[in-house]
Amino acid sequence: MKRIVVLGAGESGVGSAILAQKKGFDVFVSDMSAIKDKYKKELEQYGIAYEEKQHTESLILNADEVIKSPGIPETAPLIVKLREKGTHIISEIEFAGRYTGDSVKVCITGSNGKTTTTTLIHHIFTKAGLDASLAGNVGFSLARQVAIDPHKYYIIELSSFQLDGMYDFKADFAILMNITPDHLDRYDHKFQNYIDSKMRIVQNMTPNDYFIYWDGDPIVAKEIAKRDIKAKMCPFNIDKKEGLAAFIENENFTININNKQMSMEKEKISIKGLHNTYNSMAAGITAFASGITSDRVREALSDFQGVEHRLEQVARVRNVLFINDSKATNVNSCWYALQCMKTPVVLILGGKDKGNDYNEIKSLVEEKVRALVFLGVDNSKLHDFFDGMGKPTVDVQSMKDAVEKSFEMAEKGDTVLLSPCCASFDLFMSYEDRGQQFKEQVKNL
Ligand code: ADP
Repeated sequence: MKRIVVLGAGESGVGSAILAQKKGFDVFVSDMSAIKDKYKKELEQYGIAYEEKQHTESLILNADEVIKSPGIPETAPLIVKLREKGTHIISEIEFAGRYTGDSVKVCITGSNGKTTTTTLIHHIFTKAGLDASLAGNVGFSLARQVAIDPHKYYIIELSSFQLDGMYDFKADFAILMNITPDHLDRYDHKFQNYIDSKMRIVQNMTPNDYFIYWDGDPIVAKEIAKRDIKAKMCPFNIDKKEGLAAFIENENFTININNKQMSMEKEKISIKGLHNTYNSMAAGITAFASGITSDRVREALSDFQGVEHRLEQVARVRNVLFINDSKATNVNSCWYALQCMKTPVVLILGGKDKGNDYNEIKSLVEEKVRALVFLGVDNSKLHDFFDGMGKPTVDVQSMKDAVEKSFEMAEKGDTVLLSPCCASFDLFMSYEDRGQQFKEQVKNL
């Protein structure tokens, strides 16, 4: 019997183990950390062998195939050993994708905008009455759903780490929002490695499939030119030109695909800002190409509530507006946040740096930012870059201080924007924790 070893017993690992068990493989799960109780219970319930807080090599190196959690880096000693042995290592999505049958896989990747676009597509599909579910980075794992709760449409958010372990998987819809530097610490500090990972989203596509992408991205344009992509090409951008599948014309948001066109007033789109126009275009193209009627697409694009921690308006306190963009964990997402600010800004940024280059936001900071609040254990890189601009700065190590100091530095009519450019792990459990603490501290003002 073929032996499958699952490394990492989080949502994707446990989902994979359940699916592998159901498909009759000899399954073993191993996690270097403690496994959450709910997952241990499930593994026991399915009679799946597992270990925690260790990797027993004799039980792992004999695997025919390994399903690796996206969180485990290539440099982990066990992965190095498995690679030396030539063991096939795949991701949960690759494994689950073998068993999705005739369900439709809508896959979303990019450096920024994945969760918003994924959630928006799911919103449009479910509102139109289709049997669609969220998978990948959001919701339950694809493997779990394929095993015990199958759906007709899977709307799958894919990180580069998941894409790295994908080989034969084919998306029916591949959506690539953009590619800007991120996670370089996991890619040998080589941007091209990260780019190659993102471009795996188009592998194996056929002329019946759709590739939906932002036409304004120079990196994506270069990569497309290198490849022979078989899917229907659906670029989107603001200014109308030949071949675009979505664009803005006379303030109308327009989708044009398969010789069918729909449009709606741009103002009616519920989520605001240039980046959200792109996200709405990607989602709208996907929905319209899937046969959802224009009325339904219009309605769903106009009542989508957005996603927490993404440019989320928290409150206005004595005429200072507080915006929680805690999910802005790289420089490019902060660029979009600053770009749509209409008032002077007190910017809270900092955290765990992933190899950031702040030049991208330099001119927007010069133009729009009144003061900077550095929220991190080590703010030296921020000082090196921003101190020369002559703006007031302050160092803080807690969200309480960050909010209080930014409120002090703000003037009436200003916006306090938490858009950190960095991961949260130096001071917080996660970006959600960081965003929640921000909202609580704003309430305490
Ligand atoms: P992801 O899942 O890729 O991290 P999110 O939808 O969670 O993307 O948004 C992450 C951050 O990026 C937020 O700060 C958000 O305001 C910003 N953002 C959202 N969509 C885009 C986009 N298309 N381009 C650039 N930034 C975006």
